[in-house]
Amino acid sequence: MKRLWPVVYQINAFEEGYRSLSEEGLQAKTAEFRARFEKGETLDALLPEAFAAVKNACRRFTEAKRQVSIRGHVLTWEMTPFDVQLIGGIVLHSGRIAEMATGEGKTLVATLPAYLNALTGKGVHVVTVNDYLAARDSEWMGEVYRYLGLTVGCLQHAQSPSERRAQYAADITYGVNSEFGFDYLRDNGMATRREEQVQRGHAFAVVDEVDSILIDEARTPLIISGPATVSNTASYEQYKGPVARLIQEQGVECARLAEEAHKALASGTGDKAEIGRLLFKIKTGMPGNKQLHKLIEDPDIRRMMDDAELALYQDTRRIDLYALKEELLFSIEAKNNEADLSERGRTYLSPNDPQYFVPPDLLTRFHEIDTDAALTPEQKDQGRRAEQLRYEETSERIHNISQLLRAFCIYEKDVHYVVQENKVVIVDEHTGRLMPGRRWADGLHQAVEAKEGVQLERETQTLATITIQNYFRLYEKLAGMTGTAETEANEFHDIYRLDVIVIPTNRPNLRKDFDDTIYKTRRAKYQALITEIKRLHATGQPVLVGTISVESSELVSRMLKRENIPHNVLNAKFHQQEAEIVARAGQRGGVTISTNMAGRGTDIKLAPGVSELGGLCVIGTERNEARRIDRQLRGRCARQGDPGVSRFYISFEDDLMRNFGDSRRISSLMTKLGMKDDEELQHPWLNRAVETAQKRVEERNYLIRKHTLQYDDVMNLQREVIYDYRNNILTTEDPRDEVFQVIDEVVRDETNSLNGSHGAEAELAGFVNWVNTAFPIALRREEIDFNQASGQIADAVLNRVREAYALKVKFEEAEAVKSIERYISLSAIDRLWQEHLYAMDGLRTSIQLRQYGQKDPLIEYKKDAFVMFEELMGRIKREIVYNLFRSASSLTAFERFLAALPQRLVKDQNPLAGADPLPASEAAPYPEAETDPAPKKVEEQMVLPIKRNGPKLGRNDPCPVDPTKKFKNCCGARGEKCCIKI
Ligand code: ADP
Repeated sequence: MKRLWPVVYQINAFEEGYRSLSEEGLQAKTAEFRARFEKGETLDALLPEAFAAVKNACRRFTEAKRQVSIRGHVLTWEMTPFDVQLIGGIVLHSGRIAEMATGEGKTLVATLPAYLNALTGKGVHVVTVNDYLAARDSEWMGEVYRYLGLTVGCLQHAQSPSERRAQYAADITYGVNSEFGFDYLRDNGMATRREEQVQRGHAFAVVDEVDSILIDEARTPLIISGPATVSNTASYEQYKGPVARLIQEQGVECARLAEEAHKALASGTGDKAEIGRLLFKIKTGMPGNKQLHKLIEDPDIRRMMDDAELALYQDTRRIDLYALKEELLFSIEAKNNEADLSERGRTYLSPNDPQYFVPPDLLTRFHEIDTDAALTPEQKDQGRRAEQLRYEETSERIHNISQLLRAFCIYEKDVHYVVQENKVVIVDEHTGRLMPGRRWADGLHQAVEAKEGVQLERETQTLATITIQNYFRLYEKLAGMTGTAETEANEFHDIYRLDVIVIPTNRPNLRKDFDDTIYKTRRAKYQALITEIKRLHATGQPVLVGTISVESSELVSRMLKRENIPHNVLNAKFHQQEAEIVARAGQRGGVTISTNMAGRGTDIKLAPGVSELGGLCVIGTERNEARRIDRQLRGRCARQGDPGVSRFYISFEDDLMRNFGDSRRISSLMTKLGMKDDEELQHPWLNRAVETAQKRVEERNYLIRKHTLQYDDVMNLQREVIYDYRNNILTTEDPRDEVFQVIDEVVRDETNSLNGSHGAEAELAGFVNWVNTAFPIALRREEIDFNQASGQIADAVLNRVREAYALKVKFEEAEAVKSIERYISLSAIDRLWQEHLYAMDGLRTSIQLRQYGQKDPLIEYKKDAFVMFEELMGRIKREIVYNLFRSASSLTAFERFLAALPQRLVKDQNPLAGADPLPASEAAPYPEAETDPAPKKVEEQMVLPIKRNGPKLGRNDPCPVDPTKKFKNCCGARGEKCCIKI
């Protein structure tokens, strides 16, 4: 404080100088300060003059009795900052908390640092506790800012994004904490274009009622939730029965096949390759078949099966593999954990509607709709939407079935999971430890839940979340104001690095705080306080009754009604009305009942003559858990040198006393002393006992908040990484660079995990196959020298990918390409991040149980969260890679690209195509096509893309050529990298 006074004198000296300035002269100061700041002068250096400018503007308003319209009321401006308010302003500018008693004019104080910091052009946020105050203060204080040439914005709940953007564009923006927080979440977690973002950074925030925002509200995070991306639970229930029957049917078939194999083996005559195929078929149809497992205990027999498998997975034998799978109802690939329906299976499940599991070929349908001259634009729109919906529904259905098949055939109870208390709990593959609360992604967990007949878990999920604490930690500089921060100073310091400075009041405080009045029972307490209110009301002295709950407010209200005492009841629901009622609480004879949260930030002025009656009397019906809240209540009276009194009524039956006070000893003492129920007790020693109880609760609550924060910190780090990554993609001028970095990483990861030349042939084939599924480059096994270092293998692949991509972009507009590149990255991040949030939720709730394992749950949480995050990043990257070649800005661009692709592939890479490159008009004569089990009529050489939309579309997605088949079984099985309509 000592250091601050000289600054105050400086401000006042400047302000005196400004008095002789013309209006324009004063207003020109803003531009001057800005220019000086630009030239390198610091805000600290500018502070005295800037504060002086604000003060001088206020003085001019006061002298001119300026009329200001605030929320529809006209008010005469009558305030020029006091010295202590200047001090408050300096403290705020320094990034600290200024504790200033109620009525000291914090609203005005905020204008000083807000004006100064807005000179940087970076945008200052003034944070209020409710919408009404944001609107009121921005109008009221806006008068000063606008006068000095700054712009002011105000966030309100119902504003549209463009309105919000305009508010943030202002030099100073008023708004409620949650509005700021939600905008942050929407900007960083949901906006898909930079233009959709509304905020422009987090430079400086002044938080009004900082204790309420950073402490009271800190325990509830802001959450934006939406329908779960994981599949809807109802369809799992719906398909569970049919899928179970399907599995049973296949079980019977496989048992028969196993019997056949057994006989053939026993006879010793069968063809080895054929038996191998049979065994492999059983494995594909029912990996858990017992007889099969018994048979392959014999290594020779096992080899037969493995050989058959390896042979079938070779590129040239794809058709045979496909044929084998089509003989079954569905196939399971335990290796990569996949399960698919065959055509037989589809017919089995939906005999009457074969199209039930076939998504429409969207692009063709869109094309047809677009070119249909008979349709109006609206009809086209509708048509497209309907097709899109049908596509999504069907894809979802296929996905559900596939997950159920996995749940039934791959995931075994008591091996992969256990069922506990009506929940499916995952068993850690490696340690065998239960992982309660963790969930498998993408609907698999629901599928297993459906299988086990337990409750399927929720359908909505968190899309984005942040705690208020973490939101405010984003600011480069944070400051706060409140009437009561001192008792929580430690917490502010530890968590927000905010120091609390107590600012002296402008006038000496005349408030008289009486000792608590203590009763044995609640009944007696309420009786006594009603009697007191009645007495005060009779004298005309206004009373403000503060309660800690709505119930208690209502009780007091009922009792007052019985006594015919008129009163107002408030409970933090209608901010504007409340603020106005509270403002009138200083009328003669007024009785106002209010919960602690109600009407905060509203000043109670005394009506004429009330001072003589002793000012406002504040009565607390109970001590709050935190001393801070009690101080707030007391602070409601005796503002600016007014008289006022405060008193709390408590009983030994109050929660605080029962739970934390040494009430038993005291009440037994009271009984020993022969105290009657309605007799009261008052003693400073008792006040201390109450305070001790409060301190205990405060400490406990602080620990809880700190604990929550420690968990949230983990999420926070992850969120920062993801949001950074996301923003980078959103704002970069070169999204392709980002995408290619990802491709680079993924391809290198993939090559690194190859064992070089030592890798098994099947592994190399798998790699080539993976490359070809991800990129349309028609890579052939022979083209890569796997004896090279993995880096070189990767380079070779990457070069080909770049070439293919260069070809793809040729058909697109540069801007369109950019937005696709952005879009595929963003959609991958968003979808998977949301899934991750969901999984993290589960982890968070489950982790507490690990305490029983004598492990520190926080450490466990951090460990698991880290692993999950790494997995998440990997999955995001993979999804970006997979989607890159499967998206286009328009049908035409895509068609052209894909039409160009096969020619090039034919010419450059397909050794079977012969030496003569084919003219474009005869593109796509794939020799392998002849072996297509169901050759199609040649219609056009249009190549259709695999469109990724809604649920994941990959190797298992229906092939656009023949949607009754999967890509991998159709074009993919012929070694194609994309679908060719022949
Ligand atoms: P707080 O938020 O600190 O409780 P407010 O900002 O609501 O206080 O202001 C309380 C009252 O004090 C308001 O009615 C305001 O008009 C008045 N006030 C604030 N500063 C001054 C001043 N410098 N001179 C005169 N009145 C002032």
